[in-house]
Amino acid sequence: MRKPILAGNWKMFKTVSQALSYVEHLEGLLAEIQGVEAADVVICAPATSLYPLHNQLEGSRIKLGAQNVHQAEEGAYTGESSAIMLKDAGANYVIIGHSERRQYFGETDESVNAKTQQALKHGLLPIVCVGEDLDQRNQGVTNTLVESQVRAAFSAVSVEDVTRCVVAYEPIWAIGTGMTATAQDANAVCAHIRTVLSDLYGKAAADQIRIQYGGSVKPDNIAELMSQSDIDGALVGGASLDPGSFSKLVKEA
Ligand code: PGA
Repeated sequence: MRKPILAGNWKMFKTVSQALSYVEHLEGLLAEIQGVEAADVVICAPATSLYPLHNQLEGSRIKLGAQNVHQAEEGAYTGESSAIMLKDAGANYVIIGHSERRQYFGETDESVNAKTQQALKHGLLPIVCVGEDLDQRNQGVTNTLVESQVRAAFSAVSVEDVTRCVVAYEPIWAIGTGMTATAQDANAVCAHIRTVLSDLYGKAAADQIRIQYGGSVKPDNIAELMSQSDIDGALVGGASLDPGSFSKLVKEA
C-alpha cells in the first residue's frame, strides 16, 4: 500500500546540459518499463539544474528533488537556497540531513529538524536521512543512534506532515563504498525506524510513511532490498548517474 519511491541523488555532478540530456534519455527508458507508474521516480539534482529540468519535465513522470535547503525563510545567508526558492524552481522533494552534509557542512539533528519543518511549510516533501557510521555499527548502537536521529528530525512535526515525509536509512559505511548492508540487516533497521514512528505518531501513520534504504544500491541488489517488509524504495547515488543503470534499477525494483 506504500508507493515505492526510487530517488537518484546526483550529488555535485552534472552541468545543466548534461542534466537535460540525462532526463531525456531516462524518460525514453522509463517509458519502456511496464508498470513504471506504480513507483515514484525522483531525480535530486544540483540547484543549478532544477529550473531547466522543471521546464523540460513538464508533464513527465519524473519528479524533481533538491539536495539541501536552508532553514530560514530568507535572509543574509550567502550561498544558500530557501524552501520557497526550491519549490519555485520546480522541486517537489528535498533531501535533508544527508550524511555528507552532516559530515562536511556541520548539519546537526537540530538543523535537520528545522529544515524539515521549513520544507514542509512550503510544500516540499522531505527525504530525511539517518544512519550510523562503521564504528557505531561495530559498537552495536545502530538502533539507538538511528532512533535518536528520527526522534530529533521529527520533533514538533505534526502527524499530518510526517506522513508526507520519506525517511532514508543510509548506513554511512555503505555510501559510495560498494559495501551494502544485507537486505535483512537493512530491513531490521528500517523496521526499527517504523516502530519509532509508530511510537511517536501511532501505527496508522507509521504504516503510511515510506522508508528508503540507501548505500551502494545497484540494479543487481535492488530487487532483494525491495522484497523486504519495511523497505519502500531507495536513495541511489552512484548508480543514478547513468540513465541506463538508473532505469535498470527502477525496472528491477
Ligand atoms: P551511493 O550513495 O548509492 O553512491 O552509495 C547513496 C547516497 O549517498 O545517497
